Amino acid sequence: MINALKLKLEKLEITFLFNHPYKRILSKNSIIAGEKRIDYGMLVNCGGLYADKIAKDFGFSQNYTLAPFKGLYLEFKDSERLVTRNIYPVPNIKNPFLGIHITVKVDGKIKIGPTAAPCFRERTMKD
Ligand SMILES: Cc1cc2nc3c(=O)[nH]c(=O)nc-3n(C[C@H](O)[C@H](O)[C@H](O)COP(=O)(O)OP(=O)(O)OC[C@H]3O[C@@H](n4cnc5c(N)ncnc54)[C@H](O)[C@@H]3O)c2cc1C
Repeated sequence: MINALKLKLEKLEITFLFNHPYKRILSKNSIIAGEKRIDYGMLVNCGGLYADKIAKDFGFSQNYTLAPFKGLYLEFKDSERLVTRNIYPVPNIKNPFLGIHITVKVDGKIKIGPTAAPCFRERTMKD
């Protein structure tokens, strides 16, 4: 599905640059990504766990930082298929974590989790 979307966008003359991670801001309308200078009219920051660091280079979110958590899953080993669909808990708005859920993977295996352990290591763009 994602390949079909990519093809459609390429037909609209949209270029995909893989393996060109954002490195630094050059000026208001240009950045260095990989070894390349990229000039732009609008930049959308969707850097996931690094989005806060990228935002800070542009003067945003100076007082915010992401608090990463690591989650581990258990695999359900029983041969009998206990469930056939994903099951999610209704979130508690006072403590809005995703919650322990049951996921049926594409290979039919069932995983249960996650745990949530804070990751205190300093994140760098090279991670
Ligand atoms: C094990 C696991 C299970 C999960 N299960 C669920 C679930 O069941 N349901 C649910 O709703 N959510 C789930 N989530 C959460 C969900 O995956 C995330 O909330 C979602 O992927 C976040 O999307 P995003 O686009 O913000 O970031 P991401 O999907 O993390 O995308 C960020 C992208 O930015 C790229 N990037 C990082 N730094 C740079 C840079 N310097 N330059 C260029 N690109 C960069 C990364 O390579 C990545 O491709 C799960 C997450 C994990 C880890």
